[in-house]
Amino acid sequence: MMGPKQEAQAALFYEFSLEGHVPQDHLLRSIDRFVDLNDIRHYLAEFYSHTGRPSIDPELLIRMLLVGYCFGIRSERRLCEEVHLNLAYRWFCRLDLSDPVPNHSTFSKNRHGRFRESALLRHLFEKTVARCIADGLVSGQHLAADASLIEADANKQNSTPKEDWDRNAIDPNDAPRAVKEYLDVLDDAAFGAASEVEPKFTSHSDPASQWTAARKGPAFFSYSTNYLIDTDHSVIVDVEGTRSIRQAEVGSVRTMLDRIKKQHGIEPERLIADSAYGSGPMLGWLVDRDINPHIPVLDKSGRTDGTWSRADFEWDAENNQYICPEGEPLKQFRRNYSDPNRGPSGKGVAKYQALKHTCQACPSKMKCCPKADTRKITREEHEDARQVARDIAKTKQYAVSMRLRKKVEMLFAHLKRILGLGRLRLRGPNGANDEFLLAATAQNLRKLAKIFPAPQQISKA
Ligand code: SF4
Repeated sequence: MMGPKQEAQAALFYEFSLEGHVPQDHLLRSIDRFVDLNDIRHYLAEFYSHTGRPSIDPELLIRMLLVGYCFGIRSERRLCEEVHLNLAYRWFCRLDLSDPVPNHSTFSKNRHGRFRESALLRHLFEKTVARCIADGLVSGQHLAADASLIEADANKQNSTPKEDWDRNAIDPNDAPRAVKEYLDVLDDAAFGAASEVEPKFTSHSDPASQWTAARKGPAFFSYSTNYLIDTDHSVIVDVEGTRSIRQAEVGSVRTMLDRIKKQHGIEPERLIADSAYGSGPMLGWLVDRDINPHIPVLDKSGRTDGTWSRADFEWDAENNQYICPEGEPLKQFRRNYSDPNRGPSGKGVAKYQALKHTCQACPSKMKCCPKADTRKITREEHEDARQVARDIAKTKQYAVSMRLRKKVEMLFAHLKRILGLGRLRLRGPNGANDEFLLAATAQNLRKLAKIFPAPQQISKA
């Protein structure tokens, strides 16, 4: 039998419980148990005036931002609409049905103002990491690092080619916020000072972003988000925004390793990364700190003409010499110098050479040095560390590490596809860092919620 037609009837009174309407297995219920904002008011106290109109509760703004980053709602205007309409979002933000949702313009004032000045977002991220450590998700032994390009909020139409770009022509007093930040970070190793090479184009709206074609497709302006993760449960233990060039990305890993040691006392046994991080200075830096580099060595000594490369020669550390495949020594010095600073060594590079008459009589000369009288080999300053990495690359643990490295890439895929962070909405290095911190916090919270879901209430039959 067909029932009566549904008619909308406005009741005078409702008995309604927001708590009862949010499903027990809703993701936000699980996330809520790991969001600790008890100290936020105390943390921000000095950034508020003692006079004037009462402000919006900062905890409400942070909860709304977390909803936005956890569910891929990137627009602040849309976030306000969603929180207004969605009961679960209201419950998470501690808003009752009749409570008004803050205006989207409130976010800009707080994000660019007191949240940034107080480094609140980093404080929030560090607390989430500390929670992951306390819950046993981070052993801190096997870490992996990688970087991913995130498109900046900048277009080529609004940019200048490098030959016409003149940073001295910018008036700092009349420049937008992102341009002022660009001037502020010119000496910062993660941004302006990362490389002396001028980018092909510089954006007017966000000059600190990097014009890059690293994705092998059309070039665009971008920043890099750099992740340092613990491979046990893919928890992000640190995040850093940089320009999208290798020097800056590699430098950020050093910054992050120093920071997690200071912040959380994490001293990893190994660092896993791809060959972009396998330069001599980086490997030397790691080995000096007793961190095993599970990193492919960046080695340009290989030869393409079929002759033997440096890897075919055995290093004899005890006698400071190489041994060639024919068993002959290649030495740096053929006589003893009383002054160790004398001798034919260049800056940071040592040269090793076989005896001319030995090579001339060698049956393998055509495979070794067909065009030279004798074979010469150079040894860079950090060759010992590179050898440590090469030896590690022969172990079974290294093969395991190369599989674990994919965990960082999976986090980047999640960041872009699920959290929707394919393009930044905020400009400037600070804007990029804020977005990366919030996104990493959201990813860690989702991880905690997935591993420790909220207990389900058993319904009374
Ligand atoms: S050419 Fe000289 S360095 Fe090369 S294998 Fe022969 S002896 Fe050794």
